[in-house]
Amino acid sequence: MILERFKVTDKIAVVTGGTRGIGLSIAHALGEAGAKLVVTSRTDKFGGLESLQKANYNVSFFEADITDKQVPQKIVDYTLDKHGSIDILVNNAGVAQHGEMEEFNDDLLDKIMNINVDALFRMCRSAITPMKKQGEGVILNIGSISGLVSNIPQPQVAYNASKAAVHMITKSLASDFADQNIRVNAIAPGYFRTEMTSLPKENEHWYPTWDKMTPLGRMAETEEIGAAALFLCSPASSYVTGEVLVVDGGYTTR
Ligand code: NDP
Repeated sequence: MILERFKVTDKIAVVTGGTRGIGLSIAHALGEAGAKLVVTSRTDKFGGLESLQKANYNVSFFEADITDKQVPQKIVDYTLDKHGSIDILVNNAGVAQHGEMEEFNDDLLDKIMNINVDALFRMCRSAITPMKKQGEGVILNIGSISGLVSNIPQPQVAYNASKAAVHMITKSLASDFADQNIRVNAIAPGYFRTEMTSLPKENEHWYPTWDKMTPLGRMAETEEIGAAALFLCSPASSYVTGEVLVVDGGYTTR
């Protein structure tokens, strides 16, 4: 009986940045649990979409740059046109950028904030209206341990600030829309092995520090996030809202 609560059969789930990495793993988890998927990103250059199709999920692809101010509303409209509802929104698309404060120019700052914060805000804003009409909805935002602690050795002030904003957007929306039966949670991942954490040669010496700082002693594989995401997107977490679930191998215990 309890496993029934993890099912999202025929729920309509949008996963931004769902074509690779953490987003793809979440899309697979939701697809396996029965959801119909709309995945978005600028490209599908890593074949993630094909892997979702091969798994026989009901999946469609919305190809667009989510930093375009019109795009979040277009993604929601597309989903409503195609499926008639938007039940689950996973705001996963994001970018990281390291750099010393003095050299971190406005373009880099804009890049981080535009996608990690502004686009996520707009996605939530566009999804809330139909979710209110439906009388229910679930939003899962992908934050980071970088929104909770200052990682080392890489300098990344803007990224850290952007992820702290994601956590606070999560809590604010959870509080504001609980009475509309809309739950809003976040996951704060630690270090996962993805394109984002694939370091250039000159920074490869960061890996041992990351491993050493992590009590479980290693980076995570993307498969290790799907179950946590499914918990927060499914009725299994029906009494959980405003939570930032840390999935970090213990990093933030130290
Ligand atoms: P990846 O770089 O592997 O994937 C990012 C995804 O976002 C891709 O699908 C990418 O597709 C999409 N994306 C990026 N920019 C845009 C854009 N402008 N418009 C539309 N889509 C975009 O990253 P991860 O899987 O590692 O990260 C996913 C999330 O998890 C991010 O929010 C990240 O901050 C967070 N996170 C990751 C951690 C890690 O260790 N990997 C740790 C903590 C948090 P495309 O480029 O084709 O547009």
